[in-house]
Amino acid sequence: MTSAENLQAFKRDGRVVVVGASLAGLRAAEALRDEGFAGSLTMIGDELGEPYDRPPLSKQVLTGWVPAGNTELPRRRDIDADWLLGVPASGLDLAANQVRLADGREVPFDRVLISTGVRARPWFVESEAALDGVFVVRTREHAEGLQRALAAEPSRVLVIGAGFTGSEIASICRERNIPVTVAELAPAPLVGALGAMIGEVAADLQRTHGVDLRCGVKVTRLEGNAQGRLRRAHFDDGSTIDTDVAVVALGGIRNTEWLRDSGLAAGVWGIACDTGCRALDLNGLVTDDVFVAGDVARCPNPIYEYRLISLEHWANAVEQAQVAAHNMVSAQADRWPHLSIPRFWSIQFGVNIKSVGVPTFADEVVVTQGSVPDHRFVAAYGYRGRVTAAVSFNNAKWLDHYRGLIETAAPFPPPCPTPDQPADMKPVPVDFPGPVLLAQGATVVVTGHDPSERRVTAAFQHR
Ligand SMILES: Cc1cc2nc3c(=O)[nH]c(=O)nc-3n(C[C@H](O)[C@H](O)[C@H](O)COP(=O)(O)OP(=O)(O)OC[C@H]3O[C@@H](n4cnc5c(N)ncnc54)[C@H](O)[C@@H]3O)c2cc1C
Repeated sequence: MTSAENLQAFKRDGRVVVVGASLAGLRAAEALRDEGFAGSLTMIGDELGEPYDRPPLSKQVLTGWVPAGNTELPRRRDIDADWLLGVPASGLDLAANQVRLADGREVPFDRVLISTGVRARPWFVESEAALDGVFVVRTREHAEGLQRALAAEPSRVLVIGAGFTGSEIASICRERNIPVTVAELAPAPLVGALGAMIGEVAADLQRTHGVDLRCGVKVTRLEGNAQGRLRRAHFDDGSTIDTDVAVVALGGIRNTEWLRDSGLAAGVWGIACDTGCRALDLNGLVTDDVFVAGDVARCPNPIYEYRLISLEHWANAVEQAQVAAHNMVSAQADRWPHLSIPRFWSIQFGVNIKSVGVPTFADEVVVTQGSVPDHRFVAAYGYRGRVTAAVSFNNAKWLDHYRGLIETAAPFPPPCPTPDQPADMKPVPVDFPGPVLLAQGATVVVTGHDPSERRVTAAFQHR
């Protein structure tokens, strides 16, 4: 058979297995059917029930506005799949083309998509994590439990970690008029994602809304009473607070352990793949039949010097799923690269925060539009003289403009596109805590991609 005939036979009678039946897995399955894949489709997921959406779990579900059970992902089409739910995949055998399940079953495939995402990082002391009143928020059940605890009007909530999820939960507590303490090891909230300058703005936002924000401190112990209920938290500066609810918001752990013996380049940062979402093996060779999408993927982007980037962004999961599905049923010459500029949103303390690009890929940041004290502004991020990202507080309508600047490697700092130019447009160092790895010595960047052409062109760096 020619390779075109092989592909047609695969599209007609082939076996696709999707491991991880959530946002990326479902959207990929729908896209496969849209692309004309008529073979068998098996969805493997360790959670029970219909795939659901996670962003509302730290927002509308916690306010009590949307019941956790009402977060099901809308179906874009029928996918005619076999669903194997409530059992995790425990191994991937690339020699036999089989996914192993924890209950011993083996599921054969011709092509497999891995979209096993991320789980919440638990509190580091197991017995303390098990105390009644200690929560994480990643699943529907987690959010349901926390919503019930908030509805019971706790005397105080402790949020451990002031990233996006922790900050959103603190915001909901204030909205519900619940006293809340936020403990963050870094000098400010959101500083790991957006840098020191925006971190200061986020700290101001929290304090203005009555959050007891404690930065540069570590929670060392969660103490329970005789009934196993949380009652107190201890900090490394010797202080304590009485609290009956603690939310551990210390980020995620990528679900890659089940791939340990698979021979894939899978580890704590995710599963490395090419821009076509094809997984790389341990030697960095591209595999033909293994695809990756969503939070678990670690994908290069030419605009960011081909660094492998892992993102926990809703839009990225959807777009990667579409690219992966297309490439699973396409010949080499018709394959697409996943080149979208990342974008993210969050709502906290009445402010709509949005970003485009990769803010951590920057050495400088500058406020380009609006007013920081009014919490209505845009800040642009730059790396070696070109625009690499932008973040807006209550000012999202200009982000498309900044996306264009990122895609064309426009010089940094960019001019203000509107009359509301801030008085002081001086770039400052972006200042991320901890070691930040920036590429050394690159002489060109590859950028300027046209989404309709799905290709990149080279542009010289500005300095
Ligand atoms: C509380 C919260 C708020 C968020 N808010 C925002 C937001 O405001 N904006 C934004 O852009 N993004 C947000 N996100 C991120 C967004 O939800 C994720 O990017 C998205 O869910 C990624 O989808 P995914 O399918 O890749 O992974 P996941 O949604 O993590 O799904 C992976 C699935 O695979 C399953 N699985 C794992 N291991 C196995 C295994 N071995 N076998 C079988 N199944 C397995 C998991 O249980 C899960 O069901 C938020 C996430 C959370 C948790």
